[in-house]
Amino acid sequence: MNVTVIGTGFVGVVSAAVYASFGHQVIGLDVDQRKIELLKQSIVPFYEPNLTELLAEQQKNGCLSFTTDYQQAIQDADIVIIAVGTPSAPDGQADLKYVLMSAESLAPFLKPDAIVVVKSTVPPGTLAKVRAAIDPLVKNSYHLASVPEFLREGSAVHDTLHPNRVVIGASSEQVYEKLELLHKPLQAPVVRVKPESAQMAKYAANAYLATRITFINQIADLCEKNGADVEDVIQAIGFDERVGSHYWYPGLGYGGSCFPKDVKELAAYSRAVGESGNLFVKVDELNTARLDRLMEKFTTEIGGWQDKKVAFLGLSFKPNTDDMREAPSTKIINRMIAAGASVLGYDPMAKPTLAQLNLAESEQRYRQVETISEACHEADVIFSVVEWPQIVSFEFAAIRNQAKQQWFIDARNQFEPQTLIKAGYSYIGIGRTR
Ligand code: NAD
Repeated sequence: MNVTVIGTGFVGVVSAAVYASFGHQVIGLDVDQRKIELLKQSIVPFYEPNLTELLAEQQKNGCLSFTTDYQQAIQDADIVIIAVGTPSAPDGQADLKYVLMSAESLAPFLKPDAIVVVKSTVPPGTLAKVRAAIDPLVKNSYHLASVPEFLREGSAVHDTLHPNRVVIGASSEQVYEKLELLHKPLQAPVVRVKPESAQMAKYAANAYLATRITFINQIADLCEKNGADVEDVIQAIGFDERVGSHYWYPGLGYGGSCFPKDVKELAAYSRAVGESGNLFVKVDELNTARLDRLMEKFTTEIGGWQDKKVAFLGLSFKPNTDDMREAPSTKIINRMIAAGASVLGYDPMAKPTLAQLNLAESEQRYRQVETISEACHEADVIFSVVEWPQIVSFEFAAIRNQAKQQWFIDARNQFEPQTLIKAGYSYIGIGRTR
């Protein structure tokens, strides 16, 4: 089949490379000329494990190419997949402008019976808006479907090749069959549903995971009031199969390109349909307020940031990615600096600009360094924020600077408190009393 993927971001590039690996003829299309020039040379403009190799292999095989030209990309496509961004609008609802712009741009070139698939995360009801954008400009009959994406950055290639399920939201047998055929090599369970159900399933999946994170953060806050340790609690509840021991991450709250945006969008959608008191509205509020609450706690425990040297470990929003969208570093470093600290940042992959960290170009009190040791050597506060393997496996006990008090803020509960306390650190975790 001829497949075109519109939007060559995290989702689009991975999807395009994976569909090409099934032997389809795939074109990746983007309006970003710079991105397309890089992709043409098999350079992935962001870090994602195993993606460069897959991309280069499919380009070498002649199955995958990239362009900025809509006519060239659409005119022969049997399936057109829209994978452009859907950021939150100021009112929190999904901003569909990129989806609708790409729908308008593709419409004049659609061949008869082509299927336009929306893979971007969008609220129920979006296909009607896409149809309204395409209909005035289209010459031929076409079909619409919704196939949401569930990949995780950092393991996107693996997740796309081995999905737990493929959810196909369509309204005709012909479309279900063709999209099932496209995904057949994945050998994954296929869930055939209405488009609205597919769209709700995507929001429900992310809202559930975000709620789990919020739930355990609430338990952690209570643990701090009574001497319990949230990690003990997690161990104890995990034996119940209905609860499970996986995916409990007490910490600074959820971040990244999807959870904050998707929960905000679901909350805004809830308000728009008259369900303003529901759980998702509250989850969004709690997560938004969490960083302030924890920064207050840390500030009190260390006695303020004035003149403190801070080693900030982990700049991306999670391990195995250099994505800075909604990363805690973008919200914390500038506050510490405003409060008088100086910060050395470390990350194995992410190299954010000062602007990405919301710092002025003239800022002298922030610098990124190449090693954990260099960041920590003179630090008054070691602030471990992202569980990169390089960080969690590091022997902090061995580099303890005995000449000064050093606080160790373990913002993801990745370390054994007693080991750090024995080494002489003043340990501060989440939901753990020392
Ligand atoms: P992204 O911002 O990395 O990439 C979007 C791309 O679309 C950009 O390269 C942009 O230039 C391009 N684009 C915008 N308008 C265009 C147009 N009119 N024509 C052609 N290209 C255009 O976004 P992403 O992270 O890949 O996310 C894409 C969608 O997938 C979003 O709806 C997101 O919520 C969803 N999603 C993302 C993830 C993730 O982990 N990143 C996971 C699942 C679902």
